[in-house]
Amino acid sequence: MSAAFDTVIIGAGNAGVSLAARLRRDGRQNIALFDPNPVHRYRPMLNYAASGAARMSRYERPMERVIPDGVRLFPHAASRIHTDSHTVTLGPRDEGPTITYDDLVVCPGLTPRWDAIPGLDKAYIDGWALSAHVPEYAGRACAALVREREGTVVFSVPPEPASCGGTVLKAMFLACDRWRREEVLDRIEVHLVTPFRGLLGLEPIDSRLQASIREFGITVHEQSQVGAVDHRARTVTLDGPDPTTIGNVDLAYVTPLSRAPRFIADSGLSDGGDAGLVEVDPRTLRHPRVESVWGLGDAATVGTRPSGGALRTQVAVVADNLRAAREGTGAAHYDGYTVIPIAVGHDRLALAEIDRDGRPAQSVRGIDLTRPRRLTYAFDRYLQPVVYFRTLLRGRV
Ligand SMILES: Cc1cc2nc3c(=O)[nH]c(=O)nc-3n(C[C@H](O)[C@H](O)[C@H](O)COP(=O)(O)OP(=O)(O)OC[C@H]3O[C@@H](n4cnc5c(N)ncnc54)[C@H](O)[C@@H]3O)c2cc1C
Repeated sequence: MSAAFDTVIIGAGNAGVSLAARLRRDGRQNIALFDPNPVHRYRPMLNYAASGAARMSRYERPMERVIPDGVRLFPHAASRIHTDSHTVTLGPRDEGPTITYDDLVVCPGLTPRWDAIPGLDKAYIDGWALSAHVPEYAGRACAALVREREGTVVFSVPPEPASCGGTVLKAMFLACDRWRREEVLDRIEVHLVTPFRGLLGLEPIDSRLQASIREFGITVHEQSQVGAVDHRARTVTLDGPDPTTIGNVDLAYVTPLSRAPRFIADSGLSDGGDAGLVEVDPRTLRHPRVESVWGLGDAATVGTRPSGGALRTQVAVVADNLRAAREGTGAAHYDGYTVIPIAVGHDRLALAEIDRDGRPAQSVRGIDLTRPRRLTYAFDRYLQPVVYFRTLLRGRV
């Protein structure tokens, strides 16, 4: 089978669905979306779910339900892009339909690099290691964190690229707050491993969060990464300026390193880095060598820490630039805005809003959102999911 579309989008996650809806609003016809996943998740809720503060099933939808009217969904994975013939082959072994495009947008998100941390895949299968960043294990993460009553727990912030990796702190603080309210926190030794200086390598948010680190008695291993784990020996080995092995670990909340799906590099569209991200000009989000290809979201070289919050601007920039490219008008630019929301307990949340260089980029004037507040918690936990499904996924960006 073969078919031809004006615009083809690979990946029906936050980026792909929002963009398809926005293009429909702009009047574009003949759009196709490819995604083999039968479920669309509101991913920011995974951290709340992992620490028992939300039920994930309420934030999942069958994929067909989030696809905008007039957009054709192919429930297949893209396996190869042929930029010379403007075609994409679908299916795990290229045995699916071949689709022709005029414009192609690549946004298939990130996928775990299980081979990067020796022992981690086996530790996940065993149930001793887990993280909300691997959605298939988020339910188990919840059960394990909620059940924990004593011992040692290690949390790790993944190195970039990671899907809003800093929000591991959210899961950690929510878990600590829960343990404190259940009066077991003083029996649990909590370690945080971070590849950054301080916590996230960002000021002023790091200084703000230090108060919670002290309050919960967390030991921080900064500028360090998990080098290996052993679920049988219950050890987590750290690489960094102070290499060490943490022993007697009861739970390893260790997020695997991430990479973009391999078909991007196999199709000659990656930036050549280990993570195989789709190469784009970080301002226009257009591929620098192949003019008909665009990229956004976690899988693209957008030059900033990936997040759903970053996508509002990215989606608008790609939509505007797809039109500008056809009309020969000036290109819109993405400024690198991104956001990392961190709950410090069950009722307060701090927001790190930064630009491409990690400098503060406040969206609201006059209020310091890096200070943990009840209002920002309520927004992130209760209002934002409604905005996501009713507004962002409907192309109102
Ligand atoms: C645990 C967690 C917590 C987070 N918390 C926050 C938060 O609090 N705030 C915030 O702003 N952001 C947060 N994020 C980040 C946010 O969810 C992502 O930045 C956003 O989802 C990225 O959108 P995307 O479309 O690029 O990728 P995704 O949403 O991951 O979607 C990619 C889609 O592509 C599909 N796909 C993969 N391979 C193929 C292929 N070969 N062919 C076709 N389709 C394919 C996948 O099935 C998936 O549906 C969090 C992420 C995680 C994991």
